[in-house]
Amino acid sequence: MSMQDVPGQRRAKSLLQNALRAGKVAHAYLFAGPAGSGRKAMAQAFAQTLFCEKQGIDACGECLECRKVLHGNHPDLHLVVPDGATVKIEQVRELQKELSYRSAGAGRKIYIIEGAETMTTPAANSLLKFLEEPSSPVVAILIAPSAQAVLPTILSRSQLVPFVPGDPEELEQALVSEGKPALIARTAVHLTSGLDSARALSQENWFAETRNVVIQLGKENSSRFPAVLLTAQQQVFKTDLAEHTDTLLQMFALWYRDMIYVMTGREKKIVFSDQVDWIAKHAWSRSLDSWLAAMESALTAARRIKAHVQPQLALEQFLVNSREG
Ligand SMILES: [Zn+2]
Repeated sequence: MSMQDVPGQRRAKSLLQNALRAGKVAHAYLFAGPAGSGRKAMAQAFAQTLFCEKQGIDACGECLECRKVLHGNHPDLHLVVPDGATVKIEQVRELQKELSYRSAGAGRKIYIIEGAETMTTPAANSLLKFLEEPSSPVVAILIAPSAQAVLPTILSRSQLVPFVPGDPEELEQALVSEGKPALIARTAVHLTSGLDSARALSQENWFAETRNVVIQLGKENSSRFPAVLLTAQQQVFKTDLAEHTDTLLQMFALWYRDMIYVMTGREKKIVFSDQVDWIAKHAWSRSLDSWLAAMESALTAARRIKAHVQPQLALEQFLVNSREG
């Protein structure tokens, strides 16, 4: 993946590409931002760019160096991930040892530490020593949820690269350009926080089926009430969608939010855009507050399932509660 392929994150990209353009790459970077914002993809793309034979401001994706990174077997790129809950001092020592060997190629070595905020204090102190005085041309990329999540001593020796939560529209475009159906992509990006998780969701058969069931239940719940519980039983609880009832409810909240979008003149934001005619016709049948309450009720039911309430009970109560009355 090139840096350009990482969706959004304009600020992070320009910071890194300015450094590349000026030939002023720092010894250590802290990629700080929420999970799912593309920090790891950007770290790998940046490393690939630094190794790339073309030496441009983005990876070419074709040269031998790029291909080694893409195949996960570049000898001078080291990845450290938390061992269990933390990054431990033994891992940092091991890394230090790897870095002390001569690099395979002519250039620098790069290491990426995921979950840098989980470093134990001894691990962080050990890392500090070689963050300060890299023995050879080394670039460190630390990944953490925020600048405050790492020790100040580490922060002060790193260049901060801020990542913002993924913008749903940019994530959607990225998935569509990969060939995912637009309607599924649009729904998925609103239920997850990043590209990888949205992609995973959009590939599931049950996800597309759940979307259809939400449309059916949503429409039925606005008209023939007695049918809706029967539909839920047949379409959800007698199928393997049952184990995804929490996602179904979160999707239901998006359905109600679409009503609110219509009432507030934001039709372009509608997630169920294939149902826009129906939604436009029915949105005005209830008050804004009533849709809001229904939306909240769906999210509450999803939370109840996470708290181990029986899914069928939670969904049925939601269907009854979210009915106007
Ligand atoms: Zn290349």
